[in-house]
Amino acid sequence: MAVTALKALSDNYIWLYQIGQDMVVVDPGEAQPVLDYLNNHDVNLATILLTHDHADHTAGVREIVAKYPATTVYGPKECSGDADTIVYEGETIDLLGQSCEIIFVPGHTNGHIAYLVDGNLFCGDALFMAGCGRVFTRDYQAQFETVNKLGQLADDVKVYAAHEYSETNLRFAKEVDPSNTAVEEALKNVRQQRKNDEPTLPSTIAEEKQINPFIRANDFDEFVQLRNKRDGFN
Ligand SMILES: [Zn+2]
Repeated sequence: MAVTALKALSDNYIWLYQIGQDMVVVDPGEAQPVLDYLNNHDVNLATILLTHDHADHTAGVREIVAKYPATTVYGPKECSGDADTIVYEGETIDLLGQSCEIIFVPGHTNGHIAYLVDGNLFCGDALFMAGCGRVFTRDYQAQFETVNKLGQLADDVKVYAAHEYSETNLRFAKEVDPSNTAVEEALKNVRQQRKNDEPTLPSTIAEEKQINPFIRANDFDEFVQLRNKRDGFN
């Protein structure tokens, strides 16, 4: 099993999950990086997974499927314009012979889902390294529950978020939790990785429990305060 990051748009990652020659693409917000990868590697595109209905996660689907019509596209109901197979909370799908669990993670959008396969969490914009997605739905309760739900996954689960927001998130975490040495350490590592032009992801659930202010919030009110403060932080 291998997971590869493809850079897309300004700060998106399209994750490629591969077993042997077979490949799964998560949230292709652009077609070209995926098509280039497929042209340059001896792999079969089997499946596309969509986490939620935002163009920077879905805009590449049609062009990819036009060239690879045998591809199955899974997604939540809000992605029914692009997905041919709609999946729901608690369902498991077969992904290259592995059992993949569908987790409902609303808040950023109403229908957002995440995929958990073999200890790898593809969570779109529900959870970021040291952060979480903006609550476009205004349903803060949903996002609070989502973050807590993901925080309860096994410590060694790898978190493949869809954006390179780690450095800003960690600077924010440092501001709101200045005595947290794990945040300090993570920020140092992330700055080095960015300098080397390397992805800072994945993180792990264990790491997020130490550095993510949204998982660490004591209660709903603190979560909402943090989220509002983060919205105005650059
Ligand atoms: Zn989004």
